[in-house]
Amino acid sequence: MSKPIVAIVGRPNVGKSTIFNRLAGQRTAIVEDQPGVTRDRLYIEAEWLSHRFTIVDTGGIEVDPQDEIMVAMRHQATIAIDEADVILFVVDGKQGITQADKEVGKILRATKKPVLLVVNKVDNRNVENELFEFYGLGLGDPIPISAVHGLGTGDLLDEVVSHFPKEDQEEYDEDIIKVAIIGKPNVGKSSLTNAMLGQERMIVSDVAGTTRDAIDSMLALQDGTQLVIIDTAGMRRKSKIDLPVERFSVMRALRAVDRSDVVLMLIDATEGVTEQDKKIVGYAHDNGKAIVIVVNKWDLIEKNDKTVNVFTQNIRNELGFMQYAPIIFISAKTKQRVHRLGDLIKYVAEQHAMRVSTGVLNSLVEEAMLINPPPNDKGRRLKIYFATQPSVKPPTFILFVNHADLMHFSYLRYLENKFRESFGFEGTPIRLIVREREEKS
Ligand code: GDP
Ligand code: GDP
Repeated sequence: MSKPIVAIVGRPNVGKSTIFNRLAGQRTAIVEDQPGVTRDRLYIEAEWLSHRFTIVDTGGIEVDPQDEIMVAMRHQATIAIDEADVILFVVDGKQGITQADKEVGKILRATKKPVLLVVNKVDNRNVENELFEFYGLGLGDPIPISAVHGLGTGDLLDEVVSHFPKEDQEEYDEDIIKVAIIGKPNVGKSSLTNAMLGQERMIVSDVAGTTRDAIDSMLALQDGTQLVIIDTAGMRRKSKIDLPVERFSVMRALRAVDRSDVVLMLIDATEGVTEQDKKIVGYAHDNGKAIVIVVNKWDLIEKNDKTVNVFTQNIRNELGFMQYAPIIFISAKTKQRVHRLGDLIKYVAEQHAMRVSTGVLNSLVEEAMLINPPPNDKGRRLKIYFATQPSVKPPTFILFVNHADLMHFSYLRYLENKFRESFGFEGTPIRLIVREREEKS
């Protein structure tokens, strides 16, 4: 699923940016007693109890410098309501409730999204009396914290992550294959989506008020397999928001990748692999997605019998870390080979979800160790006692060994190659986790 967004709202000087930095576990911005400190970062990636999420300090969103504070605050609260999954409404425990707090509180009471009322600057724990008045905002139990001293922030984070939306397995059925089409602007994402849908018009599933920033279309293959195509381009056309397009489209691409099983990485045949392509597809690889490399605009290339090989070699050189991804050369315009994509997507999705039986897996590991014995160092030799596959999407293996420090990257790569030779896993990254344990009895 895409990462949840947590927005911090509140009037100036209540401690928003202090909280922002505290929650992110970083102390980059210095906020010592000077109101209105400059913030250089709007978004920070944070992690708590294995939830990864993005925190936004709406205080840093410049609305209009001419606006008076109240107008700016209303605007920021509205942005939070539109875009965030959880809203932290921060008030000042030393000052108590102000008129501005009441106004913002009123706006926030109207949303169905979770709003947590955070009372900051509660620097000592004797708080019962201080907190009482904040119930008057009608936003539930106040949560006392001291951002400066880090008091109560752990409890706050527990509360925050408990409100995150459910994982996206529930968004679509498990057996529907979610496909993200990504690539730089103008590479042909919309054209390909339309070609696959077999019609010129985009199916728009735009639900008002969602934070969804791609457009999803359903598609059924001949054999009944269902796909959801997540197109990141459609929305851009409708959006009137005036933000740097590059940065915006990258963020959107990352979210689409988060929600997908299979990523179609579109590369413009006339340009080859770009730096941005590498970053986005690298993210897909790191996040364990199945990947198909789609070279589009193939109709524009003058070809001879060597052209495919030259292109393939180039892509393999540029994207050395993902030799497993199949490459297909298409034209979304003339529809050349577009009809093959459905089966290819289905195939890599199956590989991505493939399980190997423990018996077969362990015979393979034993055989691999016989052919090429594991590394040794100062009289100690690595032994792999046992291998198991605890999960799929991507296929993940745990190797139980005697001394984890003896495992080399090169030996892991050797094992990965062996796994691929025997089982395929085409189009999917695989993960090998090394765990130390006592000798098997
Ligand atoms: P923002 O304008 O809402 O982003 O507020 P800042 O984070 O810039 O903080 C405003 C002032 O409040 C700064 O002087 C902070 O040091 C101070 N402050 C922030 N959190 C706390 C806290 O937990 N306790 C106390 N005593 N002061 C705080
Ligand atoms: P997006 O921004 O990635 O969604 O790209 P579009 O689908 O809007 O395509 C951008 C431009 O490239 C449009 O003018 C398309 O007609 C053109 N285009 C897309 N695919 C192809 C293709 O396979 N061949 C050619 N010649 N042009 C294409």
